[in-house]
Amino acid sequence: MDAFWSHSWHGSSWMKIATVFFLSNATAACTISTAAAILAGIAFGLGWLPSFDSQSVQCFWCMGVGCVSYALALLYWRSRRKVFVDRICISQDDPQLKAEGLFSLGAILQSADEMLVLWDPSWARRLWCVFELAAFLYTRPSNLQKPPVSIRPTLLGHTIFSVLVALLLAGWTFHLSMIFGYSLQMGVLASLGLCGVIFFAIAHLARVYCRNVTTLCDQVATFRVATAKSYCCDVDHKVSGDDQPMICDREIVQRCIVKWFGSVPYLANRRT
Ligand SMILES: [Zn+2]
Repeated sequence: MDAFWSHSWHGSSWMKIATVFFLSNATAACTISTAAAILAGIAFGLGWLPSFDSQSVQCFWCMGVGCVSYALALLYWRSRRKVFVDRICISQDDPQLKAEGLFSLGAILQSADEMLVLWDPSWARRLWCVFELAAFLYTRPSNLQKPPVSIRPTLLGHTIFSVLVALLLAGWTFHLSMIFGYSLQMGVLASLGLCGVIFFAIAHLARVYCRNVTTLCDQVATFRVATAKSYCCDVDHKVSGDDQPMICDREIVQRCIVKWFGSVPYLANRRT
């Protein structure tokens, strides 16, 4: 298995999905859209594609074809990497299958070549998330200089998307101002103005990221297995409309910790 993806179920799904799309497909999307834009430029130069403005030699096909092919490749490119995501790979409906999946987590983590942490402020509060990272590090050789763990904030997808929209708006505003006969200076000013508004929002995202890092430092410093957040304990192990008590994830985690590490305090000390 190529990678184990660790994420908090309490983070924004859309931000995680956007980040995963960019991390998995952005390279392919860039390559495909650049090639498509170059081909469109060559086709326009050879006269195979019509010009929207007979008075001008500017080609709008490159940007149009490049944008469309980038969006399509980003959404529909299928990476061949094999990854593990708990929400999909562990049964959430059958308690027996869920328990078996959780007990197999050690073997799953051991077989993963690397771990991707989709980090948001709720991640380090969750028992499962920190447990996954500690267990993954435990399964690596102790003499490893740099563990194969990538930590990516889920703000990343949102931020990259904002940058793309800003560049798109700037590019098309400039092109359209040329089509409608505005001066070059007016075109540059309009595109920079629109771009600037979105980059103001991106600066806000950067401030949010810095605040989140400060929160993470506090969360790591005060993390305890006994007090970390777990959904089953939050709802007092009761499922609405079901008399059977919910299986406690904290008990499973603690049993796994004792089985793998010998004792719970040993795992707690691994964070240092
Ligand atoms: Zn519980």
